Amino acid sequence: MLTNKSNNDALVLFSGGQDSTTCLYWALKHFDNVRALCFTYGQRHAIEVDIARSIAAKAQVPFLLLDAPVIGNLSSNSLTDGTIIMDQEKPDDSYPNTFVPGRNLFFLTFAAVVARSHGIRNIVTGVSEADYSGYPDCRDTFVRSANVTINLAMDEQFIFHTPLMWKNKKEVWALADELGVFDIVRYETLTCYNGVKADGCGHCPSCTLRRNGLEAYLQTRI
Ligand code: ZN
Repeated sequence: MLTNKSNNDALVLFSGGQDSTTCLYWALKHFDNVRALCFTYGQRHAIEVDIARSIAAKAQVPFLLLDAPVIGNLSSNSLTDGTIIMDQEKPDDSYPNTFVPGRNLFFLTFAAVVARSHGIRNIVTGVSEADYSGYPDCRDTFVRSANVTINLAMDEQFIFHTPLMWKNKKEVWALADELGVFDIVRYETLTCYNGVKADGCGHCPSCTLRRNGLEAYLQTRI
């Protein structure tokens, strides 16, 4: 079992993107000791890991890298298979082919095992129900359910935190600004599906979402 001294430590699921970088700084505000956990699972762009590592270094957060290619290899999806043309929007009756089935359940399970080995109780993930493609494993009900299941699986008392769950992209920009890291998130993160840092390629679904949120936020920024 985890000891009391671990109650205020956190492990952040971290990719070096806008959302998880905002979560990393949110965690630094709320917890005494923070570690970042980054997964590789056959994504197209190896640069993601370099960017994640450098953001963590700048934040002075220990960076853990877990190579788990099985997450991407188990299914056909356009994030890990370069021969599949990426859906630009959500099909009416299904999920876009950027959906990696089971990904967040794998992430949370692996994260809990890593957290347990470090005596960490709090696990932070940047998933959100708002403004996204409606992936089922980004929903609040899923994360709460996974929290219960993983606690039962390991006889532990992990607490899963989802600070972005009800925020759209505009509100995520606002949170980064509140945390004093607007420029870090704007210029040093990578969200683009085509592997272009900061403002990105400008035309993939992820860049469009990010830019629309940024423009909406900048209109309200004092
Ligand atoms: Zn892009």
